[in-house]
Amino acid sequence: MKKSILDIISPLSSICTTSFYQNITNRKLIFPFYHSVSDIPQLHISSLYTTRSVIEFKKDLEFLLKHYEIIEPDKAFILITKKQQPIKPSFLLSFDDGLSEFYEIIAPILIQKGIPAINFINTAFVDNKDLFYRSKASLLINHIKENPQLNKLLSVFLADNGFTNNNLYNIILSINFNNRELFDKAAKICNYSFEDFLQVKKPYLTSVQINELSKQGFLFGAHSINHPKYSELNLQEQIRQTQESVEFVKNKFEQPYKLFAFPFTDFGVSPELFNKFFNHENHILDFSFATAGLKNDEFCRNIQRIPMEGTSANGKKIIKTEYLYYLLKVALSKNCVIHK
Ligand SMILES: [Zn+2]
Repeated sequence: MKKSILDIISPLSSICTTSFYQNITNRKLIFPFYHSVSDIPQLHISSLYTTRSVIEFKKDLEFLLKHYEIIEPDKAFILITKKQQPIKPSFLLSFDDGLSEFYEIIAPILIQKGIPAINFINTAFVDNKDLFYRSKASLLINHIKENPQLNKLLSVFLADNGFTNNNLYNIILSINFNNRELFDKAAKICNYSFEDFLQVKKPYLTSVQINELSKQGFLFGAHSINHPKYSELNLQEQIRQTQESVEFVKNKFEQPYKLFAFPFTDFGVSPELFNKFFNHENHILDFSFATAGLKNDEFCRNIQRIPMEGTSANGKKIIKTEYLYYLLKVALSKNCVIHK
């Protein structure tokens, strides 16, 4: 729904300048986020969303550096806590899923430009010990594309397990966290090994790389244990996924903050969870991060970020469109996320 509105208003966003949007909205602190940057097709991602090439990513950074100041996370966190905006427009980047491209491609670019960033990692995937179930879907789809003779076999297997649709790829993409064991069974039927992929490709950051990046000044937070959709979990499991992953990251990698980014989205998460997160006496988190775009949040410590992928639009267009959408939301008094 939101994506289609953004597609419609996107051509109109260029009518006004970036500084006009910054001033009229008084939204001067923005949080763009990415997953990966690569010039090579990523088999574990390519069926899910499009990522930036190195040139595209550098162009996004050029735009950001032209219109925004670099802000250190410490300073951004103080402003957020005080519910203040910086004097000059500023941006803070973050990266989800703890993918190895952060170490190999992204960090060297950011270091060269002096740009800080926060990484949100899934604790079950660190050191390539396990694979995100959505990545398994992407790998399986790519494997079937290479081996179309497997279509029928897999369709029958999935139909036997209650998954039917005209399009096999859509069936595979519809398998959710609770049914994720189907991926391992399907892979076995197709004679495909996720384990081999993990060992050969090594898609995730290792502990050694995280320690090195941390020493270079990058911050680390948790992205849950194994990337479930939080709206599909009960409150107790939401707390467990958050608390265990955040404590692991903070202790193992000696992080100064307890940071957490919701896997997928915070949509459908109850206010009760946020009250537990930020409870004064026994807080689980210092700050959480979500993905609703340029929006305020009723919980000021829950920071809404701007997704910078999954579209052919460049960074300039994405951010200006978010500002235009924000203005429309202000007119309807809907620019603040209220959790129900
Ligand atoms: Zn994620």
